[in-house]
Amino acid sequence: MTEDYESKSFWLANSGPYQESPPLAGDLKCDVAVVGGGFAGTTTAYFLKKAEPSLHVVVLESEVIGFGASGRNAGFAMTTFGLMMSLTKTMFGPEKTRQSHHYMERAVDLVGELVAEHNLDCEYERTGFLRAATTPAYIKRIQDEVELVKSLGLEGIEWIDAKATRARVNSPLYLGAWWEPRCALLNPAKLVREMKRVSMQCGAQVYERTPVTEIQRNADNFCLKTPKGCVTAGRLALTTNAYSLSIPQLRRKQVPVWTYIVLTEPLKPEQLAPIGWKDREGVEDYRNLVHYYRLTAENRLLMGGRDIRLTFGDNMDKDLDDRIFGELEQDIIELFPSLKGVKIADRWGGPVSVPVDMTPALGCLGDHRAVYSLGCMGHGVSLMHLNGQVLADLLLEKKTQWTESFPVGRRVISWPPEPIRYVVSQAILGYLHAEDAWAERKGFGIS
Ligand SMILES: Cc1cc2nc3c(=O)[nH]c(=O)nc-3n(C[C@H](O)[C@H](O)[C@H](O)COP(=O)(O)OP(=O)(O)OC[C@H]3O[C@@H](n4cnc5c(N)ncnc54)[C@H](O)[C@@H]3O)c2cc1C
Repeated sequence: MTEDYESKSFWLANSGPYQESPPLAGDLKCDVAVVGGGFAGTTTAYFLKKAEPSLHVVVLESEVIGFGASGRNAGFAMTTFGLMMSLTKTMFGPEKTRQSHHYMERAVDLVGELVAEHNLDCEYERTGFLRAATTPAYIKRIQDEVELVKSLGLEGIEWIDAKATRARVNSPLYLGAWWEPRCALLNPAKLVREMKRVSMQCGAQVYERTPVTEIQRNADNFCLKTPKGCVTAGRLALTTNAYSLSIPQLRRKQVPVWTYIVLTEPLKPEQLAPIGWKDREGVEDYRNLVHYYRLTAENRLLMGGRDIRLTFGDNMDKDLDDRIFGELEQDIIELFPSLKGVKIADRWGGPVSVPVDMTPALGCLGDHRAVYSLGCMGHGVSLMHLNGQVLADLLLEKKTQWTESFPVGRRVISWPPEPIRYVVSQAILGYLHAEDAWAERKGFGIS
């Protein structure tokens, strides 16, 4: 049964008419098969064809391009890597933390370059990013992170006080913020469809409604089973991110975790005036279970995050959660009282990919003939574009600054099997909740 992608996000339903590519019907031989048609898959195909136009590159997507997180996210192309920089430093040390930040800076710039080079129609705007503190404990958390940025010799991020923060976006809850100009906002469904267009113009073939149900690794090729034909490929890219449970070679490297979004009607000028928001910055707070929010091109307020849902086993049916939707709607009013009574136009959710150490992962599987990318941690809009370029270079055995950089090729610890996985992930979630509750125990804050 095929899934109705238009119900999966406002973006997927309202980004213009979409022409699906036909499913694979019959057997096919190719040089590279890319499994998964999100940002990572479309970008891998694009960079492969760009580097070697004669390669026969095929993208196989089980539903439609952008069906996964790429067509549902909030559209922040940002430098955040994993959960937070201090956690990366604790686990991997200062040099790898520096490398991961440079990787993400490059990723944000790459998205901007692709948009400019190919005139990608995706409502792209480089707005900058605020990470706003809403309690004294979050001031400390954010200021400590800004200090870490500086101590690592990184640039482009500063602490601004409450007055300067509210001069940008006026919420009575704001006590100061991390300010970072390097962040763009965009319409993700349009972007991923545009990357499909560009990769096809370069000669890649895209098959939608074509799930890969089995992958066999042979001495000199891979055989991929799909419902109506087999693909024999010399090389393989697995870009299935949170859906990687269905791929035996990846299933223990990550778990899917669901995050949710509510979207208002277009705001009227009188609703927006008290908030300011002239430069339209993307905003997050610094809870472990972060809120993220922004204005869309139509001045709708998109509010996401606050809590997450876990899953047991292979169940991927968690795209809606009424409790979290209701709480997000209340959070909008708590943050911006002038929006009392605003109507909610849409609600949706989607899975992000979480490795056990909460750090993105990509690299080779066995040897350079098979590569993978996963573990976005909810911050994969920019990341997955650079990952796509790196996967293409790994398949072509090309060394670049980025193929040699952390996190490429890092060792990934496996999640335990069920039911231990569920118990461990619930325990981690419980800890994250408790730490946030402690940070919000006094003073105001969304709680
Ligand atoms: C609600 C939400 C908000 C988010 N907001 C942001 C944000 O503002 N900024 C940010 O940086 N990140 C954000 N993210 C994360 C970001 O969307 C993801 O990191 C990114 O889209 C992942 O891209 P991808 O190509 O790796 O995976 P996906 O886009 O998930 O693509 C994987 C694809 O693989 C396909 N697939 C799976 N299995 C198979 C198979 N067996 N055969 C064929 N195809 C298969 C799926 O159908 C899917 O289309 C958000 C995510 C969500 C869910």
